[in-house]
Amino acid sequence: MQAVPRGCTLVVGLGVSGWAIARHLTRQARPFMVADTRESPPGLAAFQAAFPGVEVHCGPLDTLDPSQASEIVVSPGVDPGSPGLARYWQATRAGESGMPRVVGEIALFVRACRAPIAAITGSNAKSTVTTLLGEMARESGKRVAVGGNLGTAALDLLVECPDAELYVLELSSFQLETTPRLGASTAAFLNLSEDHLDRHGDMAGYRAAKSAIFRGASHAVVNAEDRLTWPDAPDLPVARFTTRPPEGDDWGIAEQGAGAACEPWLMQGERPLMAVRELRLAGRHNQANALAALAMGERLGLAREAMCRVLARFTGLAHRGELVGEARGIRWINDSKGTNVGATLAAIAGLGPTLDGRLIWLGGGVGKGADFAPLVEPLARYAREAVVFGADGPRLAEALAGRVAVTRCDDLRAAMARASAVAEPGDCVLLSPACASLDQFSDYQARGEAFREGVAVWMNAFDQRETQ
Ligand code: ADP
Repeated sequence: MQAVPRGCTLVVGLGVSGWAIARHLTRQARPFMVADTRESPPGLAAFQAAFPGVEVHCGPLDTLDPSQASEIVVSPGVDPGSPGLARYWQATRAGESGMPRVVGEIALFVRACRAPIAAITGSNAKSTVTTLLGEMARESGKRVAVGGNLGTAALDLLVECPDAELYVLELSSFQLETTPRLGASTAAFLNLSEDHLDRHGDMAGYRAAKSAIFRGASHAVVNAEDRLTWPDAPDLPVARFTTRPPEGDDWGIAEQGAGAACEPWLMQGERPLMAVRELRLAGRHNQANALAALAMGERLGLAREAMCRVLARFTGLAHRGELVGEARGIRWINDSKGTNVGATLAAIAGLGPTLDGRLIWLGGGVGKGADFAPLVEPLARYAREAVVFGADGPRLAEALAGRVAVTRCDDLRAAMARASAVAEPGDCVLLSPACASLDQFSDYQARGEAFREGVAVWMNAFDQRETQ
């Protein structure tokens, strides 16, 4: 069995985070070696060229003895409970000494970071809120660095923006569970719905991983409508957001004005901030996202006017409820980032009530062990047909059977062909798969791009028929 040399850091996982960790340890002049469970991980040759002299172990981790390592740093894609790591992970969680601790990239970031951290987690809306808050900070004149689970890896931000006055980080449950103490100036836990149960075991395990965002925090932002997001620590100052009229000092939505001028406004307590009508983001879920970003920005001392200016111009990120085509009275919406049931429910609830026609829902892929039953009611209410595809298509079809018309297809292309055959004017074709994409695509972006290209072909064919 190969042994990690005494005093050497073991980096596990040769992906985006693994590279960032390797660059960081090199800058810090700390000796390290790398392990990846795959026999020939992609990018191996490039890694060896970039880090000559760094030993790389490929293959099962239980053929490696890390007992003499100074620390084990795992990438978020690596399950710290997997064979070869599990006993070190258990010891770390139990606070036992005498064995190398298992941590993640964010733990190294926290040690090296010299500016306040604003951190965002949740099953959904992390990227949207992270981007919004980053824009708000920039608009308020702060030197801000934005990244983490979104865009640039956290450790690389330290090099890209060494003089940042604020780091805004999107953090996944995988990144958080291996972060012993984040110490955020403000930490938001936006929502919790079933996801990643294949890795966390159950909802309690998933929630516990996400709740690590509050370790060492001085302020929390949580969802008043989702108790599971509330911190267990009783003395942590908390700001709450809701899409209902706010209680106390909560951030919420209430009608303002009288008679015909009466309309919903974003509020903090009694204080009106801006009319919901002025928001460029659509849907109630995005109003919640706006309020969460405002609550964090307020804590960070950002200017309210600057924050509202950002909300009045931010149109959203690609692949999140994005209109990619409209013809024959049919809209095609790309919500490929809807990778779990909670996100898809939000997309359906946002769109359904706005339609003249019905929804043609495209879903499927890798369901990550989730329960699809919550989709039945909203689809029965709003969908003309559910077109399912990919690995968990059959499981989706089974869940919807008898309540929603379902067509099973092999892949997205066939599902789109079916959608264009059944859609009628006033309808909306929504790709919000409630599943990960990895059975048929490299990631959700590739799935969204395939949808966008398919829509362009469909629109083109339609244009040509029109002009004939
Ligand atoms: P994340 O980074 O957590 O995946 P995104 O901002 O990329 O979050 O949005 C992911 C998906 O979540 C989108 O498909 C969108 O439809 C859905 N979504 C956005 N905001 C909310 C919300 N407040 N609650 C539930 N789902 C949401």
